[in-house]
Amino acid sequence: MKYGKNRWISYLWIAGIVIGSLGLSGCKSSSQKEEGSIVVENKGKKTKAEASIFAMDTFMTITAYGTQAEEAVQEAQHEIEYLDQLLSAGSSDGEVGEINQNGFGSCSQDTAYLLERSFELHEKTDGAFNVMMYPLMEKWGFISGDYKVPPQEAIDRLLPLTDISKVSYDSKEGKIQFLEKGMKIDFGGIAKGYTSSCIMDIFEQYNISSGIVNLGGNVQVKGKKTDGSDWRVGIRDPKGEKEYLGILSVSDKAVITSGGYERVFEENGVKYHHILDPKTGKPAQGGLDSVTIVCEDGTLADGLSTSLFVMGFEEAQNYWMDHSNEFDMILVANDGTIYVTEGLEDKFESQMTKVHIIRQKNK
Ligand code: AMP
Ligand code: MG
Repeated sequence: MKYGKNRWISYLWIAGIVIGSLGLSGCKSSSQKEEGSIVVENKGKKTKAEASIFAMDTFMTITAYGTQAEEAVQEAQHEIEYLDQLLSAGSSDGEVGEINQNGFGSCSQDTAYLLERSFELHEKTDGAFNVMMYPLMEKWGFISGDYKVPPQEAIDRLLPLTDISKVSYDSKEGKIQFLEKGMKIDFGGIAKGYTSSCIMDIFEQYNISSGIVNLGGNVQVKGKKTDGSDWRVGIRDPKGEKEYLGILSVSDKAVITSGGYERVFEENGVKYHHILDPKTGKPAQGGLDSVTIVCEDGTLADGLSTSLFVMGFEEAQNYWMDHSNEFDMILVANDGTIYVTEGLEDKFESQMTKVHIIRQKNK
């Protein structure tokens, strides 16, 4: 098995961060039944269905309320399994894995959509978001777990393989070709947010008015809780000292965090994490411990959380100033100070004293 016990424990911990909403209870009442791995609970008119699975390198939970909750959760599970195989960069029998092996191929609808969104984000973020970082992810050992700081010469040799202008993509035909050998797509920075967006579509199809998915700490919610109140999502403390930094109250939103704590190793007293700056080929060092993006579109939230982490403290704020109609965010700086954009001012509760509100300059 690829994943050690410790990873399971940490994923369980991350998943526990949706406050008072998932309540994975060990004992079932007489109104509960278990079908496959889906737990179904009938509460008067409302049926609750819930499933937990391990996919995309992480522990995931899907919860839905409604008369068709069970069907919705089942389809969501299938969607996750399908996208996991389709989009996995290293798989030998998935579409993206095959494209990576062959250096060319045809893209199905999901892959084509994600590629196009990724190219668009690459441009909008001035290259901070780059789905071609896989050769460097491999070199740093973030794929195998055999971590090592590569020599500068190796980084210099691999950086040209991350050049998106060397990807030839025909959007009409859905055909892709890498112009240099060894180039590889890595949707790791955007796939989970896309997956949670797809699950929201499934919830919509099955008339689920209230539901939540938690894909390894990346959360997206449909509607409000069944009692009419907002979902409460805990924002993780990137330093791991507190259980969470604060609680965000949201409805119909994705809440997606990127942090330098997720995959990290230490060499000669220096910590190295898995979010790479495409300009240097090294872990981004922009003065941030984590970036949380809040918006309706899970794909955008995931792509932006990675991008703004790469951009760093100053540039992330400038980006928000120019795109504040698209998203809100919570930045945690290296010194522990929390910066919250004004749209979340009334939605974020925290015991921390160092919380600043970022406001639009031109108001
Ligand atoms: P996230 O946790 O969403 O920030 O995604 C981190 C993952 O995105 C990494 O594990 C890589 O697979 C990938 N990645 C690393 N650096 C970048 C980058 N600059 N742009 C896009 N994806 C990246
Ligand atoms: Mg991301």
